[in-house]
Amino acid sequence: MCTLLMTFTPQIAVVGGGPAGLAAAIEAARAGLTAHLYDDRSALGGPAYGHAAKSTLLAELDAAGSRVVLHHRATVWGIFEQRTLAVWEGDRAEIVRPEVMVLATGAHNRAVPVPGWTLPGVTGGETRAVKPGQRVLVAGAGPLLPVLASRLVRAGAQVVAVLDAAPSGRMPRALPAPWNQWALSGHATADWDTLRAARVPFVESRAVARVVGDETVREVVTVALDEDWRPVRGSEEKLEVTAVCFSWGFVPSIQLSQMCGAEHHHAAELGGWVPLVSAEMETTVPGIFSAGDGAGVGGAALAVLEGRIAGIAAATRLGALSPGAARSRSRPHRAALAPLRKSRDVLGRLIAARPGLAELITPDTVICPCEGTTAARVDQALDEGVGDLGQMKRMTRAGMGECQGRMCSPALAHLISHRRDIPLEAIAPPSIRPPVTPVPIHVLATLPDEQT
Ligand SMILES: Cc1cc2nc3c(=O)[nH]c(=O)nc-3n(C[C@H](O)[C@H](O)[C@H](O)COP(=O)(O)OP(=O)(O)OC[C@H]3O[C@@H](n4cnc5c(N)ncnc54)[C@H](O)[C@@H]3O)c2cc1C
Repeated sequence: MCTLLMTFTPQIAVVGGGPAGLAAAIEAARAGLTAHLYDDRSALGGPAYGHAAKSTLLAELDAAGSRVVLHHRATVWGIFEQRTLAVWEGDRAEIVRPEVMVLATGAHNRAVPVPGWTLPGVTGGETRAVKPGQRVLVAGAGPLLPVLASRLVRAGAQVVAVLDAAPSGRMPRALPAPWNQWALSGHATADWDTLRAARVPFVESRAVARVVGDETVREVVTVALDEDWRPVRGSEEKLEVTAVCFSWGFVPSIQLSQMCGAEHHHAAELGGWVPLVSAEMETTVPGIFSAGDGAGVGGAALAVLEGRIAGIAAATRLGALSPGAARSRSRPHRAALAPLRKSRDVLGRLIAARPGLAELITPDTVICPCEGTTAARVDQALDEGVGDLGQMKRMTRAGMGECQGRMCSPALAHLISHRRDIPLEAIAPPSIRPPVTPVPIHVLATLPDEQT
């Protein structure tokens, strides 16, 4: 049974309880407002941030007291008419119509299909799935590679190598600013010390060409990459492993900002499609703000600063702060943000997945694991004239499954871009309809008629 509560109209709603959402709610509360914060998880801090948030933002949250109303395990599964939120909270369904809202929905793991990537024993950044003693290869691109590899070593796995697709010699050897300000795995230099002590080779400009196995992983074939991340013929090598842990960085979760009707643009250094935002983090829909990884992947410190700026701006929009007070409150956050964004952009460009990776895909490579759509089916659709993600979904079912295309859409866009030789930014993200995440049918049934 699911009960539909009356429509609720808070002044400010924040979606997402990671560092960005927490910071936005804290600033709104500091300005004297009551902010309602909705997060689909049971603990605050986002998927990766829990313990770091405890030592910092959670103390500020305590100080805010009842001015921040927390809704745990509360999923915002749709937004209607720009600012009407459909919320599923345990045995209750709620319609929430805030005056202003901050979307801080974070990002999800980027998937890069290669032959064998859906075999048991292959994970996408999930280190807990790897057992102690297993021979594991860590591969992908970005600052999380040493973080994940060192976690695995400490958990007792034998990390046979770390492969970074990014060009040789350009990746910083420590978690770069902005990522090193809020180290989640412990200490960046400690990660490298762990890898050195365990004699784990770190190889650049190299990737997994295919994973070989049946019930489990038996080996991987690795290959050198050129500047465009195209496989270099004749450079293949075999490695015996029992698990592979991929980390290809993150893709901003923009489903809710899309549903609001906000304009989006493509920025490779931010992780792909992101909402256009003003200096106050306001989207093109007045009164709707976006902050943190959902507005461009940049690490926790950046998410906090953007969240604070969005919270202050939202409070100003509601008249709780004068423009002058808002300026002086947000000034230090803006000053701290500028250099972090600069280095985030440099790093983002370095690790942005390049089109050459699509050459690793063979006809039987699964592109959409939810629907089992292979590259052969995608190529057939391309031959039939399909040129965008919407048509591709209708023709091949890729993107229709449980994850609603979160996993396969960026990979499909790369494939279309590569096969058609068109830039990635020419391929719009797929259009989004509620529910953005699977919800029970009785929750959908509670929606008032005007929303269906
Ligand atoms: C393994 C790992 C290690 C990392 N290490 C570092 C590090 O050392 N340094 C660093 O700076 N960064 C690190 N990061 C990245 C950092 O965690 C993120 O940049 C940061 O958490 C982004 O904050 P956010 O608030 O934008 O999003 P998130 O922290 O992702 O929070 C978003 C929240 O919104 C919720 N949500 C999303 N959609 C909905 C919805 N529809 N309804 C309700 N709730 C929703 C999510 O469940 C989540 O709780 C790491 C990430 C990972 C995965």
